[in-house]
Amino acid sequence: MTTVILPRNVRPEIVCPSWCTVSTEDHIAELANLEGYAIHWSSSSGGVEHSSMTYTDGSPGPEPGQVYCDGWTKDLTLTEAEQLAHAILAAVKEARGAN
Ligand SMILES: [Zn+2]
Repeated sequence: MTTVILPRNVRPEIVCPSWCTVSTEDHIAELANLEGYAIHWSSSSGGVEHSSMTYTDGSPGPEPGQVYCDGWTKDLTLTEAEQLAHAILAAVKEARGAN
């Protein structure tokens, strides 16, 4: 475990990707628990959202980005599978910055 020490009177600057929905205050509050990294979360679209872990300056952290599929735990109809596939592809494109 890494100990993160934040100076009292210095507010860390957090560089977020354009799609991040996490407030700066929430990022700062989580820094100590995340060993100085920020985890950025997208909004949920079609039950799909994605996250990435970065250093506070926005450079990539040690973990690759991830895509989460909420509420898709049942067998899918063809239409549902197609919607999920489109939502996953949109999340991947957004995470990679290719919209
Ligand atoms: Zn963020």
